[in-house]
Amino acid sequence: MTPSVLPEPNRGAQSTDPLVVLEGVNKHFGDVHVLKDISTQVARGEVVVVIGPSGSGKSTLCRAINRLETIDSGVITIDGRRLPEEGAPLAHLRADVGMVFQSFNLFAHKTVLENVTLGPIKVRKTSKADADKRAMELLERVGVADQARKMPAQLSGGQQQRVAIARALAMDPKLILLDEPTSALDPEMINEVLDVMVQLAKDGMTMIVVTHEMGFARKAANRVLFMADGRVLEDTTPADFFDNPSSERAKDFLSKIL
Ligand code: ADP
Ligand code: MG
Repeated sequence: MTPSVLPEPNRGAQSTDPLVVLEGVNKHFGDVHVLKDISTQVARGEVVVVIGPSGSGKSTLCRAINRLETIDSGVITIDGRRLPEEGAPLAHLRADVGMVFQSFNLFAHKTVLENVTLGPIKVRKTSKADADKRAMELLERVGVADQARKMPAQLSGGQQQRVAIARALAMDPKLILLDEPTSALDPEMINEVLDVMVQLAKDGMTMIVVTHEMGFARKAANRVLFMADGRVLEDTTPADFFDNPSSERAKDFLSKIL
């Protein structure tokens, strides 16, 4: 690939550089210090699972990486590009980072297919024909191609969440953030979504996944970040985290969920 056809910025970024770098990130909501001096990195193709008690700052961390929240101090860099970057439109910064929420967040008044094509058409300026073709491939990949003409409410929760994953992938993001993607699902639907996530991980997608699904963490994660009270207390391999947690908070947390 010649430099002229590389996707915009990052011409200096090397494929061996970490994709995401957080350095001394702090965030307050009023008097509450929600992210405390968070520093970590995510390599390209790495799958990082974020675990921790409710209120520990996991969602805020995801939202900060996706620019849905500002930070008070520190630096977040994605693919060599410090965010926010002067003059860069937010939509394009966000397009590099796909996000999947607990509550699916599909557009209720658009078909499944339209949910997946909207971003590429509006933000990437992809033609409708190309966007439709790619969307059908992605819906096939997550196993819901036969639902393309339906409205989201006609689908099960597990199907809707798989559409949400296809929608995130349609923007060709460099990174996908999934914030408790299976927490709102009935138990029998959890595995169909986890299976798609495991396949994505195997395909080399860089992923940050907030989840308490320990099976997924053991099977698919390269690293586990354990958060408590706005701090990252453990940043290690799944095996090390589950079998040999170093902090009392992690031991206590694991004793309650395992
Ligand atoms: P988690 O996802 O780990 O449950 P969150 O990141 O959602 O944690 O929340 C971390 C802390 O920040 C909690 O104390 C929560 O109440 C607070 N918080 C989150 N979002 C807001 C907000 N928009 N305004 C005020 N406080 C918030
Ligand atoms: Mg949360």
